[in-house]
Amino acid sequence: MKGGEAAPLKTTKEPVKKHRLEPYFNFGGRKFFMPKYFDEQKWLEAIQHNDWYLRLSDDYKRLIKQAEESSKEISEEIKEEIYQFFENHLEKGDITLGKKGPNWDEERKPIDTIVIHHTKNPHGITWQRLSAMQLVRLYATYYASPYYEKEKHIKGEAIFSNHFKNSHQIFYAYHWLIRMDGSAERLLNDNEVGWQVGNWEVNCRSVAICLDNDFENSSPSDLVISSVAKLIKEKYPQVGLEKIVGHREVNPKTICPGDEFLTGWKLKIISALK
Ligand SMILES: [Zn+2]
Repeated sequence: MKGGEAAPLKTTKEPVKKHRLEPYFNFGGRKFFMPKYFDEQKWLEAIQHNDWYLRLSDDYKRLIKQAEESSKEISEEIKEEIYQFFENHLEKGDITLGKKGPNWDEERKPIDTIVIHHTKNPHGITWQRLSAMQLVRLYATYYASPYYEKEKHIKGEAIFSNHFKNSHQIFYAYHWLIRMDGSAERLLNDNEVGWQVGNWEVNCRSVAICLDNDFENSSPSDLVISSVAKLIKEKYPQVGLEKIVGHREVNPKTICPGDEFLTGWKLKIISALK
């Protein structure tokens, strides 16, 4: 287990679960998870194997395509089912994961870049949900088609992040999560590489700060903005102002952390640091 990190600036208890739509039904006062967009039995069988992400790959692609082509409500319902499934089973420990594997942090470089993200989810996301989402979206995707020659062999092997919290393997892409009350929660340690921007070279030398909300068409409050600035000032004073960027500036395929970042709240963060 990795350590050696200072405690977060301000800690909060892990938040209670808060999801808008839940694929549960009530039966005699008990709640059952009951997905309607995929065959749960098939998924339960698949996660018992090292290569579950290959076995579920077609289903996952079909569901994401279906979500993209559906109304916002249906799309959220589909994603909720997928990530609820993985969150449940990750927590129970019944998804097959690697006990060893590549040391992804071997290539960690001195930190000279800060990348800002938003979760693009309703605020109050749990650590467990974030870990499940990033397991599926990032690690499973890469293990299914590793593009570096020296890593081709991992395809089909059990997924291993080499990152742990309370002896559970975690799959966070971010180092910090900023809550809407301004508190900063530590996710990855600084000596760990976050799989965050889709560019390994940048991942190796950057720290990811993620805002716990959907800022696609809105801006964070001044409280949140000043909390981000305070975190950067206290923890990463070595990073030049020109190296504080949004995810979209590194990867033009995304608009993360939202439409108002570049001409709005990014400037507020920078001016708070001057
Ligand atoms: Zn992002």
